[in-house]
Amino acid sequence: MASNLPASHDKQTSTSPQSVADSVSAAGSTAQDEVIELCHDLLRIDSVNRGNGDGNERSAAEYVAAKLAEVGLEPTLLESAPGRTSVIARVEGSDPGRAPLLIHGHLDVVPADPSDWRVHPFGGEVVDGSLWGRGAVDMKDMDAMTLAVVRDLVRSGRRPPRDLVLAFVADEEAGGTLGARWLVDNHPHLFADCTEAISEVGGFSYTVSDDLRLYLIETAQKGIAWMKLTVAGRVGHGSMTNDDNAVTALCEAVARVGRHRFPVVLTPTVRVFLNSVGEALGIDIDADDLETTIAKLGPIARMIGATIRNTANPTQLDAGEKVNVIPGEATAYVDGRFLPGQEEEFLRQIDELIGPAVRRDWVVFDQALETGFDGPLVDAMASALKAEDPSARAIPYMLSGGTDAKSFSRLGIRCFGFSPLLLPPDLDFSGMFHGVDERVPVESLRFGVRVLDRFLAAS
Ligand SMILES: [Zn+2]
Repeated sequence: MASNLPASHDKQTSTSPQSVADSVSAAGSTAQDEVIELCHDLLRIDSVNRGNGDGNERSAAEYVAAKLAEVGLEPTLLESAPGRTSVIARVEGSDPGRAPLLIHGHLDVVPADPSDWRVHPFGGEVVDGSLWGRGAVDMKDMDAMTLAVVRDLVRSGRRPPRDLVLAFVADEEAGGTLGARWLVDNHPHLFADCTEAISEVGGFSYTVSDDLRLYLIETAQKGIAWMKLTVAGRVGHGSMTNDDNAVTALCEAVARVGRHRFPVVLTPTVRVFLNSVGEALGIDIDADDLETTIAKLGPIARMIGATIRNTANPTQLDAGEKVNVIPGEATAYVDGRFLPGQEEEFLRQIDELIGPAVRRDWVVFDQALETGFDGPLVDAMASALKAEDPSARAIPYMLSGGTDAKSFSRLGIRCFGFSPLLLPPDLDFSGMFHGVDERVPVESLRFGVRVLDRFLAAS
């Protein structure tokens, strides 16, 4: 791996101004070398999660456990089902009076078809300065950064102030039923005293100009309301009249849901986010036309645009077997997502849209989250970013999707998305998630390690 990297990153350059800035970043230089190898190795391990219980994280979990044990930690492997393995470890802090910090990362990835990719999705190759592979940003990058920083801390005898609880978990990509949720339900004592957590989909940069980069820290995420809609009608011959056609009635309901534009509701997180972005870009936030403002954000507009309102997208349809037979039942699936505080209102909106003749069943229902952008932990994130990137400005944002934070927050843990990466301005970062040609710049990983190292020392 090292031979693929630019020469300036050899260990000999550890006397560069950046790495001797202080003892913290100097100690992190070993981790910066190691993170690339760790991420490369993890990307080469197939831990694809196909959903419905079809996945296998055991090899990835054993790899992680071995890397932790190598430096003297005592990882525990836990299996919810054969092959569905999670790893938990604890790093002792210097102040036993402080509550531990949870760092959680999932080991599974979504499937990838090599024929769609420019570089093999399970090769872990470095091409054009980036590590390519399924999981490069979601989220073997953060798994590797966490491993690299923790190994370095332990090896060098530098204790973080707080205990760290590390959780490398299975099954996030299928809702965590066999991973985070299973751990929280069956082994809550492992996380009992944790008060705060960091994990994926936050802490990445959004470049405004050479001297201003916004780093989006995830402090909120929408709730999940995946539903099945069913309409029953009268079976009949396709040649005859039928005023009780299940297909027709279902399609009307689905069209009403799909075409509906839910009203704009700004939660505190989104309000702060939009004001910060408006100020940074020098644009006025037009409350009556937020779409126009958001469209100016480029590729992340897709994700941000979904955080100003509830959404419901029809995704699957099923009815009938033969063109001349009117079926007695028709079903559809809808991916619903509601804002924090909007759970009841969303249900009311959906039921009004589908009407009384349509039966609604939940396929997956999980809470929305929102926490404040304040406190010492947030300060530690902001100052660690600033120390490594003088142009950094940390701001909160809401994720339109969901993560394992939903499970861990059930234990009263304040969850943040903080996997720091300084990204090239032209990288379509949100398009990398579950996308083709997923990759992470090598320099971004090194940056992430430096920031995490500082963050853990200060948190
Ligand atoms: Zn993920």
